[in-house]
Amino acid sequence: MAGPDLPSSQTVAWIETPGPDTGKLVIRNNVDIQQPGDNEILVKLECSGICHSDCRNVEGMGSYTEIPGHEGVGTVVALGPSASTSLLGKRVGVKWLYSACSECAACRRGQANNCPKQRNTGRSTRGTLQQYVVARADFVTLIPDGVASEVAAPLLCAGLSLAGAVSKLSPEVQPGEFVAIVGAGGGLGHIGVQIAASKGYKVIAIDSGAEKQQLCKEMGAVAFVDYAKEDVVETVKALTDGEGANGVICVAGTDKAYNQAVQLVRNTGVFVCVGLPPDSFMFPMSPIHIANQGLVIKGSSTGTPEQMDELLQLALQSKITPKIEVYDFEDAPKIIQELQRYEVTGRKVVRAPA
Ligand SMILES: [Zn+2]
Ligand SMILES: [Zn+2]
Repeated sequence: MAGPDLPSSQTVAWIETPGPDTGKLVIRNNVDIQQPGDNEILVKLECSGICHSDCRNVEGMGSYTEIPGHEGVGTVVALGPSASTSLLGKRVGVKWLYSACSECAACRRGQANNCPKQRNTGRSTRGTLQQYVVARADFVTLIPDGVASEVAAPLLCAGLSLAGAVSKLSPEVQPGEFVAIVGAGGGLGHIGVQIAASKGYKVIAIDSGAEKQQLCKEMGAVAFVDYAKEDVVETVKALTDGEGANGVICVAGTDKAYNQAVQLVRNTGVFVCVGLPPDSFMFPMSPIHIANQGLVIKGSSTGTPEQMDELLQLALQSKITPKIEVYDFEDAPKIIQELQRYEVTGRKVVRAPA
C-alpha cells in the first residue's frame, strides 16, 4: 500500500507523562508510520500549525493521543482501500474533524463539525505533529494553488473556528454593530478580528500587550482593550454607548475570561462560546439574568466545509492574511510552553522534517 519510496520510520512530536504539571512534548525519532485503512489516505506533511487546544493533550485534559496537532498541510502519498484515487499527489489540509457519522441530525444539516460521533485529529487519532499522518479521504480539504502551505495551516483550525463563530452572530447582530472578541491577539482571535471586520462589524479586541494590540489594529479592530491595564467591563461599556457589545465571542479558554466576557454583552445580544476552559467549568451566568437580558448564547466548534472553502478563497485574494511565524520542527515543545503562558501573538507554524 505505501509506496516503495516511503521510509520505514519517522520523527514526531510526542507527549510524555501527560498531566497539568508533568506533561511535556518531546521530539522522538524512529516512530512507526501508520498505514491508511479503509477510506483513509497517508499525507506527507509539509507543515503544521500549533493550536492552544494542543496544550490540552499535553495537560492530559479530556481524551487525547500522544501526538497532537490538527492544522497540517501536505501531499497525499498513499491511499487505503476505497479512498478516491483522484487524491493521490494532491495538496490537502488535515483538520480537527477527522470524521463524522454522516447520519445524525447535525451531519444531515451540513454541520458535521457538531456531530456527536465525530472523531478528531490528535484526539481520536494521531495528530499532525509528525512527518506522515493518516487522514480520512472524505474529510480533508483541498488547498488551492496560490495559497502557501504555511498560510493555509492556521486557517484549518484557527481560521475555520472563527469563521464558524462569526457566522453565529447572525441574524441578531447587524453589520455596523459592536462585536467584542475576548482573546483577540492569539492564533484564533486575530483571524476572527479580520473576518468580523470584513463583514462590517465594529470589532473591539480584548487582549494584552503592545504586540497583540498592534496586530489587532492591523487586522481591522476599531478599539483594543488591554485587560492587564484597563477595567475591561467599564472600557467596553464606554465604547458602546454604555450598553455593552451587541455580540461577544469568547475565544480565550480560561474561567477568568468567561467570567468577565459575560459582563460585556448588551441586553438582547449574542454570546458565542469558542474557547475551551476545563470541562468542570460551567457557564457563569444565572438563568434569571439570561432571561431578563434576553441573551442569546451559542456554541461554536470549528466550521463547515463551505466556510473552509470560502476562507481559502479569501486567503487566495489576500483578504484573509493570518500572522504566521515559521519554525523548525524541533521548536514545537518550546511553542507549546509559550502557548501555555499565552505568549504567542498570531500563529506559530512548524515545518515537518524533510
Ligand atoms: Zn485548534
Ligand atoms: Zn453525525
